Amino acid sequence: MTGRRSTYDAVIVGAGPSGSVLARLLALQGANVLMLDAAAFPRRKPCGESLNPGAVNRLSQLYGDGKLASFRGLLNAASIPFEMLSGWRLNSGGVTLEAEYPAGLAGIGIRRESLDYWLVQQACDAGVQFEDRCRAERLLWENDRVIGTAARLHNGEQLLISARYVAGADGIRSAMARSAKLSGFGKLRKAAMTARIKGVQGLNGKVELFVTGDTVIGLAPIGSGQANMTIALRSNQLLESAKIGKNGFLMAQAQRIAELRERFSGAEIEGEVLTCGPFERIVQSNRYDGLLLTGDAAGYFDPMTGQGLYRAVRSAELAADALIEAMRTGSFAPLHRYERQRNYEFAAPLRMQKLIEGTSRHEWLLRTSMRAIGASRMLTTRLAESIGDCVRL
Ligand SMILES: Cc1cc2nc3c(=O)[nH]c(=O)nc-3n(C[C@H](O)[C@H](O)[C@H](O)COP(=O)(O)OP(=O)(O)OC[C@H]3O[C@@H](n4cnc5c(N)ncnc54)[C@H](O)[C@@H]3O)c2cc1C
Repeated sequence: MTGRRSTYDAVIVGAGPSGSVLARLLALQGANVLMLDAAAFPRRKPCGESLNPGAVNRLSQLYGDGKLASFRGLLNAASIPFEMLSGWRLNSGGVTLEAEYPAGLAGIGIRRESLDYWLVQQACDAGVQFEDRCRAERLLWENDRVIGTAARLHNGEQLLISARYVAGADGIRSAMARSAKLSGFGKLRKAAMTARIKGVQGLNGKVELFVTGDTVIGLAPIGSGQANMTIALRSNQLLESAKIGKNGFLMAQAQRIAELRERFSGAEIEGEVLTCGPFERIVQSNRYDGLLLTGDAAGYFDPMTGQGLYRAVRSAELAADALIEAMRTGSFAPLHRYERQRNYEFAAPLRMQKLIEGTSRHEWLLRTSMRAIGASRMLTTRLAESIGDCVRL
């Protein structure tokens, strides 16, 4: 991109999974699309790095022939390491609840920088123009209508980008949602630290969650002998990590869990430990013509159930349908319909996430619930289907 002013059918702000999926779907329909990202790609993203079966299914539909094997084949062809995930195991004070995903469905543990960069490349192959190290700063307006975005390149140059539509896919702290005064923090004050660990024993192709007090440790194999370890904790506990160093803090948290002590005896952190938080972001329904929000930019609650990637991909699909119809008809009505449809699809999963997060704060309640659910095969399967986003498959 050379000019200071350019015009596009759509500018997509953010090249995470939501932005890349959306940008590619629009370009495949012949739209002239620019996608911007503030980061230099490939980039890491704080995440538990497990795609649930719902997310794997959507990606298999979008990039393969709909079958799990085709998506695995694409990752293999791109030499991206990954690990299949057959279910999850929840552990709290020695009480365990274990669930398998329904037959034929699986999750995938994968490094986010590899997945996200591959998705960017797929978008570029479809004709999307991509500019990384380019931060969108604010929306451009004409009365109450969004007509583009002002962005800044890494060298400080400002760009005024005109577009018929702006899609904010710029994550939890979406500058686009803030620029439209649609977003604010929620009450949940949780933060997270995430690291890659080598040498963890006993990984068994499942996402494992260990809940004690206010802390949740997630462990997932991501291929090449590494595991992702993500700790969600109260925001003020991060101050403690500043005293003893992130690596020491993370390992000390694992040592507090009896079931992990032995398994972590030869474990080592590889690479940088990332921190983020607080997560909860409340975003009002968009009421402006020309603007649309997808993925985390449209609102986020808590990472515990690992459903963010499904939402990112699924909301991008819904957004693409709406934008294609809007481009064809010249009406903004499909964009407003998209808001209602997204809210409708995600309302029940969000209620379930809130229920699980609330329960996890009271250990006795969590353990009692785990025992009750574990005693019923039907309830265990339903829970696995629900948080695996398998319900609509
Ligand atoms: C600790 C933690 C653990 C998680 N674990 C899981 C998990 O295991 N499984 C799961 O499914 N979900 C998980 N999630 C949620 C998941 O990471 C997100 O839901 C998902 O990344 C959302 O994708 P996205 O494309 O909407 O946003 P992102 O992936 O956040 O991408 C947004 C992009 O926008 C760019 N950007 C930001 N601001 C600007 C700007 N102003 N201009 C230009 N670009 C900008 C960023 O650089 C980034 O590349 C977790 C989240 C957290 C916080």
